[in-house]
Amino acid sequence: MPAQVIPEAKLDQPVDFLEKKACSQRRLEEKVAIITGGARGIGEAAVRLFVKHGAKVVIADIEDAAGIALANSLAPSAAFVHCDVSSEEEIETLINKTISLFGKLDILFNNAGVLGNQSKRKSIIDFDANEFDRVMQVNVRGAALGMKHAAKVMVARGSGCIISTASVAGFMGGLGPHAYTASKHAIIGLTKNTACELGRYGIRVNCISPFGVATSMLINAWRSRDEDEEEAEEVEKMEEFVRGLANLKGVTLKAKDVAEAALFLASEESRYISGHNLVVDGGFTSSKNCVGL
Ligand code: NAD
Repeated sequence: MPAQVIPEAKLDQPVDFLEKKACSQRRLEEKVAIITGGARGIGEAAVRLFVKHGAKVVIADIEDAAGIALANSLAPSAAFVHCDVSSEEEIETLINKTISLFGKLDILFNNAGVLGNQSKRKSIIDFDANEFDRVMQVNVRGAALGMKHAAKVMVARGSGCIISTASVAGFMGGLGPHAYTASKHAIIGLTKNTACELGRYGIRVNCISPFGVATSMLINAWRSRDEDEEEAEEVEKMEEFVRGLANLKGVTLKAKDVAEAALFLASEESRYISGHNLVVDGGFTSSKNCVGL
């Protein structure tokens, strides 16, 4: 019998559908979390989901207006702290403010990241060392500093959970610019190494590797191709593009799906999972379709 192709419109349920089915229990009751890059995109979706599950959340971002608006809409369960993750001083202040606001820190979600200006196709021959440093500073130095200062307070308590956003570009080549790809590979290595060290203190360290999500990060990269597009149109075009590359048909990957993975790694359901890279790609990196992109 020939394989049946699943009609996309039939199966692509709105993410709220999942919520109604799965959100019967609050899974982060009495937990305190920091989410970096929480003002928009995947981070924003995680902020909303963590709050929905009972957590107190500190949104850490450089986008003050968006971060403050989001925190105000979720008050008193959320607060905004301006933080450039590449600055050690600002990370230290972030941890201290979190403890003075909510009394402790249970979960750090290192999610802030930048794609960098280089186009995916830019040759290594045109490698820009300053651009490389900028991407590594936010994506890797930022995550490492977060781990360092979160670990300081978590080790003292003998528990904690650190999650970072890596990417499918963190373990495959050809999916992003060189600097971004290097930075995301580094996140996976850093996660494993830190998990090895912190396990003895009861601290779990994991990362998540999403496939393409139509957030501003991808849309801005896309925008250079068509300056006059409306935002909604750009999102739709981006999602269509990603669906075209995807292995799993009938579903569009949304920021909320990545937030669900973070919720799982932050909650008791994953209490014995550490040093893990949770790939959220609908089987993309397991399929032959991703070869040669
Ligand atoms: P986004 O651009 O929508 O959000 C990124 C957030 O990080 C923004 O709010 C931004 O202000 C913040 N940020 C940037 N630099 C910062 C800094 N120095 N300090 C603090 N905050 C900073 O992008 P997104 O898609 O939501 O990305 C979130 C994470 O997911 C990133 O680490 C990204 O690499 C990763 N990721 C995204 C995709 C995707 O397809 N969108 C796929 C795989 C991984």
